[in-house]
Amino acid sequence: MLKLPIIKIKQNMPLESIVKKALQKNNIQAKDVLSWEILKKSVDARKKNDVCLIYSIGIRVKNKNNYSHLEKVVKPTLPSLSYKRNSSLSPVIVGAGPAGLFAALWLAEAGTKPIILEQGKTVQERQKDVDNFLAMGTLNPFSNIQFGEGGAGTFSDGKLTTGIHSPFCHAVLETFVKFGAPSSILYESKPHIGTDNLVVLLKNMREYIQNKGGTFYFETKAVDFETKKGKITSVIGENVRDQKKLMWETDCIILAIGHSSRDTFQKAMDIGLSLVPKNFSVGVRIEHLQEKINEAQWGTKTSLKLPAADYKLAYHSPSGRSCYTFCMCPGGTVMASSSDLGTIVTNGMSKYARDGINANSAVLVNVTPDDFPGNSPLRGCIFQRQLEEKAFALGGSNYFAPVQRVEDFLLNRPTTHLGNVKPTYLPGVNLCNLTTILPEFVSSTLREGILYFDRKLNGFADPDALLTGVETRSSSPVRILRNEQLMANIKGIYPCGEGAGYAGGIMSAAVDGIKCATAILSTSSI
Ligand SMILES: Cc1cc2nc3c(=O)[nH]c(=O)nc-3n(C[C@H](O)[C@H](O)[C@H](O)COP(=O)(O)OP(=O)(O)OC[C@H]3O[C@@H](n4cnc5c(N)ncnc54)[C@H](O)[C@@H]3O)c2cc1C
Repeated sequence: MLKLPIIKIKQNMPLESIVKKALQKNNIQAKDVLSWEILKKSVDARKKNDVCLIYSIGIRVKNKNNYSHLEKVVKPTLPSLSYKRNSSLSPVIVGAGPAGLFAALWLAEAGTKPIILEQGKTVQERQKDVDNFLAMGTLNPFSNIQFGEGGAGTFSDGKLTTGIHSPFCHAVLETFVKFGAPSSILYESKPHIGTDNLVVLLKNMREYIQNKGGTFYFETKAVDFETKKGKITSVIGENVRDQKKLMWETDCIILAIGHSSRDTFQKAMDIGLSLVPKNFSVGVRIEHLQEKINEAQWGTKTSLKLPAADYKLAYHSPSGRSCYTFCMCPGGTVMASSSDLGTIVTNGMSKYARDGINANSAVLVNVTPDDFPGNSPLRGCIFQRQLEEKAFALGGSNYFAPVQRVEDFLLNRPTTHLGNVKPTYLPGVNLCNLTTILPEFVSSTLREGILYFDRKLNGFADPDALLTGVETRSSSPVRILRNEQLMANIKGIYPCGEGAGYAGGIMSAAVDGIKCATAILSTSSI
């Protein structure tokens, strides 16, 4: 395939016309073109009065020699895998989030008949528990926004942006498309799947893994691990409904438990795995009217049909703290992401269309192990939980979330009424002063950050913009140590994904799952 020089589009036109325009611009005979595809699409809004769409187009042609001046398209190739595993035991994967599922896919396709334990339910059953929580405020601690098939990111915007560079990233995108994600994720500069598509593709992915010999145990929590002479020998699972126990003999476990499985972190420590506390961030989620964000980002001059605008902002305080926006969800909703009873945790979600009235993102301040009292490796989890419990109480102890207008937060006074931005958090909200529960260094850095962001993005500190608290699970508070072969200090255990401290987000978690599977497949005996 050959790559055409990028083309900038300033008026709405069908894709075919854009391709025709690109061919004419590069003197390519339409009769020579066998096929074409979009390689990359992005929005260039650096000049607000001259916003344009940027397309990179690939073409397959006959008479190639006539077009030797065009660059060849080089598709990422996967590192070759030397398959050495010769064990009759099935690998066991704990957790069916992106890390666990992609590990299961790779291991199943290699014929190892993996066993997947997930404490939560299948995505369809899980949806009912989530709907019930959002409607009635009844939290199922095993089946919720954090836990269940697809893991934490299922009820999300399904953003696939990442800071990592790996040949596996493209394989992850292609895999999502194979199971039902929109093909636009292959070329969008900021690909997202949307929760509506995620729910569908997860079922397809599960059925494919089952057809390839994988076995899923839902509502089954890994509660214990047996070892002998420093090697894993089996894992004990417990059905979360009837507490019946099952045991699986194995020589390798992928521990892909996510950042919220606090009791499993404790169990990991109890069996002697090495864990260390790690930096993460806490804060609140902010909501604006999406149309205001569109205006600020796209200006008001363009007639182009543009997607709901997003933003990414960062501020470094003279105090040494940082404040940044995270996991921005255009046209989305603030999600009740609690997994522990008696806690409030926020995050965000958008459907693929991103057509909600509000825009939201986390506004976070970095925290380090020095901020957490005590010396337990799990002290970050304790710090998180205490903040979440305070938010629960401030919200009214019924899973309603504490909410405050930005103007009131900046003036450190309670909110008594709402303005033109209405909260999207369900099951409900309670107007209050978030400063009463946030550590002082967090509130003060947030104030500085919000005012700084307002200079970068007009209207960020809109008096009626809303803050919903608290956002505590930006990434894992611990790291489970592993060596270069991705194995922990207990032989055969592979700490994997976000929970283990080796990923942050759907894409990097999926890639880490593939890496751990590849490590197992290329090891003859563990
Ligand atoms: C609401 C929300 C929106 C998000 N939006 C995005 C986004 O748009 N883009 C993005 O890149 N990231 C997003 N994230 C973050 C992303 O979801 C995570 O980074 C990613 O899911 C981590 O993948 P993982 O497989 O490592 O862990 P997880 O997805 O957390 O999965 C871990 C799984 O392990 C299970 N488990 C834990 N302990 C046990 C046990 N003992 N036995 C059995 N099962 C167990 C859990 O139930 C869970 O299902 C979002 C997160 C949330 C909560």
